[in-house]
Amino acid sequence: MKPVDLYARVRHAVLIEGISERAAADRFGINARTVAKMLKFSVPPGYVRTKPIVRPKLDAFIGIIDTILTDDKTRLKKQRHTAKRIFERLRDEHGFSGKITIVKDYVASWHQRGQEMFVPLVHPPGHAQADFGEAMVADQLKTGANTPCWLVFDATFRKNYTAGGFMPTLIMPDLVIPPDWWDHYIFRAPTIEGLAAKIHVPVDALRRTIGNMNVYAQTGVDPQFGRGGNDYDRMFGDPAVSPNPCLGAIDTPPYYAVPINLGDLGTKGGLKADARARVIDSSGQPIPKLYVAGNNSGSPFGNRYPGAGGTIGPAMTFAFVAINDIAERSRARAASA
Ligand SMILES: Cc1cc2nc3c(=O)[nH]c(=O)nc-3n(C[C@H](O)[C@H](O)[C@H](O)COP(=O)(O)OP(=O)(O)OC[C@H]3O[C@@H](n4cnc5c(N)ncnc54)[C@H](O)[C@@H]3O)c2cc1C
Repeated sequence: MKPVDLYARVRHAVLIEGISERAAADRFGINARTVAKMLKFSVPPGYVRTKPIVRPKLDAFIGIIDTILTDDKTRLKKQRHTAKRIFERLRDEHGFSGKITIVKDYVASWHQRGQEMFVPLVHPPGHAQADFGEAMVADQLKTGANTPCWLVFDATFRKNYTAGGFMPTLIMPDLVIPPDWWDHYIFRAPTIEGLAAKIHVPVDALRRTIGNMNVYAQTGVDPQFGRGGNDYDRMFGDPAVSPNPCLGAIDTPPYYAVPINLGDLGTKGGLKADARARVIDSSGQPIPKLYVAGNNSGSPFGNRYPGAGGTIGPAMTFAFVAINDIAERSRARAASA
């Protein structure tokens, strides 16, 4: 098997730089068939799981375990959780009723995957949505793929839900989509194979991903990413869809894809403010007449993004508070003049 970094470089050369497979074979001194194989998978195939693992007792707790293990990475070795300690915390704090062995097995496999720069995509309620972007960057650095990644859906999804700039077909049928958006911002094909060709992703991988998704939609359990495994996820789902409001089948043509690119929408750091929106200096005192709100200020939510409105909400609130404080000072000054 070829090393992962060669995989990444070959994939980057063909999929991002756009050189031909033959040119890639010459550049890296490998066989053209090997290049073709490398393009089929984002990592060496040994890593690709063909059947989802089902862990009925454990699945709902995987997000918690992932968070503990990820947080542990910032701690001294001595302070990190053992599998036994994680099991005890799950049992005592979260009502886990499974056996210690499944926790031990999961923790062992997690540590094995550590070399894959794994960034968990499952978070307990209130955890950062933004970690999706972090995972994209990590994967891009490792494999040269997934930036952009793709939102892939079928006619049923298109009919019922929004996707990027698209409203459901009832409000915004395909016919009214500006012609120059097609094959740039939105892609459509009558078959999965056709869609894969249009968006330049390996057809086998797309078929497998969609196949997995359709199994998860039926069972209601997503062993890969745990979608719909917590209240926060389910809040964004469709309550009319069961067994899992976050998982729908992708099986009704035509098939669509919209690229997902990274962008900034807010910040997680900035000037500290007190409850009157006044900027605090390094000794903890407010700086006279200096106020802060919005992206210039540190978020009251710290480095988390609790959900929609998480940046505009505090920005408006602190701006409102600041203006009231200024008005109050102004009134007090006028009264004392
Ligand atoms: C695609 C997208 C979707 C988003 N969705 C949500 C959402 O659903 N919910 C949510 O809460 N937040 C959302 N956000 C984030 C939110 O919109 C921003 O965090 C928020 O608008 C930031 O407000 P602000 O006033 O701090 O900064 P900005 O809106 O960036 O305002 C800064 C202003 O300063 C001006 N400026 C910059 N430099 C100078 C200068 N030197 N002199 C004078 N003026 C200057 C800029 O032109 C700009 O008008 C989203 C952001 C994006 C991009």
